[in-house]
Amino acid sequence: MISLVAARAGTALWCTAIAFAPVSVGLVFDQRLVQWPQAEGKLGDRLKAFLMQHPVAREMVAEAQYDQNDVHWRKNLAYYSTTFAGDGFVLAGDAAAFMDPFYNPGMDWISFTTTGAAELIAAQRRGEPMAERIERHNRDFSLCYHSWFESVYKDKYEYMGEWDLMSIAVRLDLGLYYLGVVSQPFKFGAEALKSPPFTSPRSRLVFSFIRAYNRRFAAIARSRRNARTLGRANRGQRCLIPGFTLKWTDLRLLVRPVAQWAWIEMTEGWRSWRQPPREKTSINAAANTPA
Ligand SMILES: Cc1cc2nc3c(=O)[nH]c(=O)nc-3n(C[C@H](O)[C@H](O)[C@H](O)COP(=O)(O)OP(=O)(O)OC[C@H]3O[C@@H](n4cnc5c(N)ncnc54)[C@H](O)[C@@H]3O)c2cc1C
Repeated sequence: MISLVAARAGTALWCTAIAFAPVSVGLVFDQRLVQWPQAEGKLGDRLKAFLMQHPVAREMVAEAQYDQNDVHWRKNLAYYSTTFAGDGFVLAGDAAAFMDPFYNPGMDWISFTTTGAAELIAAQRRGEPMAERIERHNRDFSLCYHSWFESVYKDKYEYMGEWDLMSIAVRLDLGLYYLGVVSQPFKFGAEALKSPPFTSPRSRLVFSFIRAYNRRFAAIARSRRNARTLGRANRGQRCLIPGFTLKWTDLRLLVRPVAQWAWIEMTEGWRSWRQPPREKTSINAAANTPA
């Protein structure tokens, strides 16, 4: 038995349970890049047919049967609230915003939003003036969400299937995430969760750097898509990432991917330097509005 779900990140689709053990299979895609078959038929059948086009997915689902009661579809998953806190309320976790179901910061987002919420509630119970605190909370979480989305997630699906681009991006994304986000609670304890990512002046430089390589890899992949050369570097490749120690010496792990990025720019990327930007990514500007 299998069960399926789809969502768009756009979009996704899932499925569950193979042979004796139930297995959940999810499919996430950018609806600007993937044409979801609109044909007649059950959603589960369409999902399975879609997955069968992929060599690895085909091996997983070819013999599987799906549970008709456990096939789900969601679209336009990314959303944010324009107000995170106000008079007598504060939003946390998915109630506040959502970025991506696949390359997901969900638990980090929960940690920061719940810490921020607890801080506001505690201040109110101590009888402190709230207006300025609430304003700062709204400003910080709005900046955090938009910076996080724009630097790491925007147009990521353009190049997620490109081994060379994605293996550089994932090592940079993860390396900087460990250095800038994960290491902080280890060094400073729960206090670190009071400062949402990308809100300190120092982190703005890191934001610009991440946004720069993410934009460039999306542009390079777009130009490969136009030239129908996507996936040329993929065969026989895999990306193994060494462990992180949470020490500044881990910075050396970023040297190689940065050099690889420079090499790709010199040998191929220059062709897309003048490429016009992609059409705007739309995120639902209202929390809790199912699409
Ligand atoms: C496909 C997918 C994959 C993901 N993968 C990852 C991942 O790998 N890593 C990661 O960190 N995050 C991941 N996430 C994100 C993560 O699951 C969410 O960010 C997290 O679950 C949000 O927690 P939450 O408590 O805010 O909301 P929820 O987990 O949605 O909890 C809200 C709860 O409130 C209940 N509820 C709703 N309305 C009412 C009501 N009126 N009365 C009472 N109860 C109510 C709901 O039933 C639910 O139990 C993923 C999300 C998706 C969709």
